[in-house]
Amino acid sequence: MNPIRTFRPCPVCGERDAENLCSLDYERFIEHLPLHYDIVSCRVCGMVFNDTTASPDDFNRYYSDCSKYDNNNIVGASNISPVERRRYGRMLELIQDSLTPEKSVIEIGCGYGGILPVLQEKGIHNITGIDPSENSVRHLLNQGIHAEVGSFEKLSDIPPCDFLIMIGVLEHIYDPLRALKNAMKLCREETVILINVPSSIDYGEYIRTPFYHFDFEHINHFSLPHMDNLLRLCGYSNRKYDYDAVRVRDVVNTTLTGTYGKTKVQEIIPDFSLSAQIKKYVDESRKNDFGKSIAALAASGKKLFLWGCGAHLARLLKSTPLSQCNIEAFIDNDPYKQTKKITGHRVLPSSTLHECGDDSTVAICSPLYRTLMTEELTRSGFKGEIVYLC
Ligand SMILES: [Zn+2]
Repeated sequence: MNPIRTFRPCPVCGERDAENLCSLDYERFIEHLPLHYDIVSCRVCGMVFNDTTASPDDFNRYYSDCSKYDNNNIVGASNISPVERRRYGRMLELIQDSLTPEKSVIEIGCGYGGILPVLQEKGIHNITGIDPSENSVRHLLNQGIHAEVGSFEKLSDIPPCDFLIMIGVLEHIYDPLRALKNAMKLCREETVILINVPSSIDYGEYIRTPFYHFDFEHINHFSLPHMDNLLRLCGYSNRKYDYDAVRVRDVVNTTLTGTYGKTKVQEIIPDFSLSAQIKKYVDESRKNDFGKSIAALAASGKKLFLWGCGAHLARLLKSTPLSQCNIEAFIDNDPYKQTKKITGHRVLPSSTLHECGDDSTVAICSPLYRTLMTEELTRSGFKGEIVYLC
C-alpha cells in the first residue's frame, strides 16, 4: 500500500485519499499535457485515475489545439470500416427495442461521425452531432447530418433528446461528473443515455505492449461499478451493459457500453476489484518492458531510427535506457511532429528510411501500426535491421 493525497480529486467521488499504483514519465512530444502521471486508486470508491498537477485548462487547451481528431486517416473517422460498423451495431442492440424512427438522438464528441451515419442508415433521421472541432462538424453537415460546434460547457440552445450518446469521451475528461451534469440539459425524464468507454478491468487481457493503456489522453480508467457510480451521482442507473473486443489494426481494445435511465438513488457503491486488476497489469507490464532489446541496441552502437512518436515511445525514452542508444533520428509521418525536435534529434518522414545502409537499425515503436510499418520497410528496400519495441 502506497497511500497519497492526490492533486486531482477522484473523478467519481471527489475524494483525494488514494493508493499510488504506478508512476509514469514521458518525454515531451506534445504541448500542454503532463509529462508525469501517477496512476492511483481512490481509497473511498476504488475508481482508478491519473493524478496530475495539470489543470482542467491544460487539458482544454490541448483538445482545442489538437488536430488528431481532424485527421481523416484516423481509423473509422471518415468512412466507417466494417469493424466499426459491427461495433456500433452491437452498441445499438442495447437500445434497439425503443429506438424507433421518430426518436431523437444526440451524440456528444462525435468526431467525424462514427455512429451517426449508422443511425441514419437505420432510418433514424432526428440526429445531432456535437463536437468542438469545426472540421468534424463541417464534414457531418456535408454528409447531410445535423451537427453543431459545442462541448460539455457549451450546450445551452440544443433541445433535449430521447437518446444521448457518448462514445470514447468520458475517459478523456478531467471532471466527468461536472461534464455529465452539464449534459443533463439535453435529457428529458425518459431520456436514455448510452456511454462507451475502454473497459479498464480488461487492460491485461490482450497485453503485448507494456503500459499501453496508460497514454497521455486516457485519464479515467472505468470498470462497470465505477461508471455506474458516476451515473448514479447524476440520477441515472444502469439498464443494460455489454463488453466488446475491438481490433484496431494491430491492437485489440476491450470496451464497455452501458445504458442508463432515471433513478432516485444517488449512492456510491465502493468497488476495489479494478485496482486489484490494474496492479496485476502494472506488474506484467514491468516484467516485459523491452529491457533486453534496449540493452542490445545500446551495446551495438548502430545508428538507431525510432519510428512512431506516440505515448509509448515517449514513455520508453524516460523509463528505460533507450535515450542512451545511438539515436540518429526519430521517424513520424505527422507533418506537425516533423517541425519539432525530440531529445535534440530531428523527426523525419518514413520515406527517408530507404536511404539507410545496413549499419542502421529501425526500432518500430507504434503498437497500432507495427504491421503497416514493417510492410513499408520491406517494400522500400530498407537494408538495415528491424527491431520491435512495441
Ligand atoms: Zn473515489
